[in-house]
Amino acid sequence: MSGRVHVHVIEHPLVQHKLSLMRSKETSTSTFRNLLREISMLLAYEVCRDLPTTKQRIETPIAPFDAPILDGKKIVLCSIMRAGSGILDGMLEILPSARVGHIGIYRDPKTKEAVEYYFKVPEAMSERDAIVVDPMLATGNSAVAAINRLKEARPRSIKFVCLLTCPEGIRALEAAHPDVPIYTAAIDSHLNEKSYIVPGLGDAGDRLFGTK
Ligand code: URA
Repeated sequence: MSGRVHVHVIEHPLVQHKLSLMRSKETSTSTFRNLLREISMLLAYEVCRDLPTTKQRIETPIAPFDAPILDGKKIVLCSIMRAGSGILDGMLEILPSARVGHIGIYRDPKTKEAVEYYFKVPEAMSERDAIVVDPMLATGNSAVAAINRLKEARPRSIKFVCLLTCPEGIRALEAAHPDVPIYTAAIDSHLNEKSYIVPGLGDAGDRLFGTK
């Protein structure tokens, strides 16, 4: 599955090492939070690999130079609340000029369906490239609903970044939004009967905020 063009698995040893630490149930809330921030910086590095740069004339202490710069103002990081904020924090350290959108979606525990409760993105989305972030792409319901809603604002492009996914999540997102590439640190085995990723890392929101 990782061979598909639109699913990018970030196999870098630093990413894999940090992910393994995050998976362990012995890892504390504060360590989990720090690791998610660190790993998100590395994911940002990968997801930005194809960003265009422009040249800006600067003066080094030695000579004038047409220096490549990134047009970071065009990027909107769209966090699927609440666990998306863990990835958002790390990515903003690498992309400090990025704008931020918030999409409030929760998973109904009975139906497993996505329910929207908040949506706020910057203006002029048609000039912006959106990067949607959520640590877990599990059933895909939240991601599909968030991207459905985001597309109403007509961003110039959309990428989806998660920490972990599984074949079910990839299939659901690909079926609904084949135009959206997925960036992930790992594709796990499957979903269990409670729609948790196996082996996964548990509930990302609870582990990030210490709510359980
Ligand atoms: N959401 C989580 O936080 N963890 C899972 O395993 C699946 C969905």
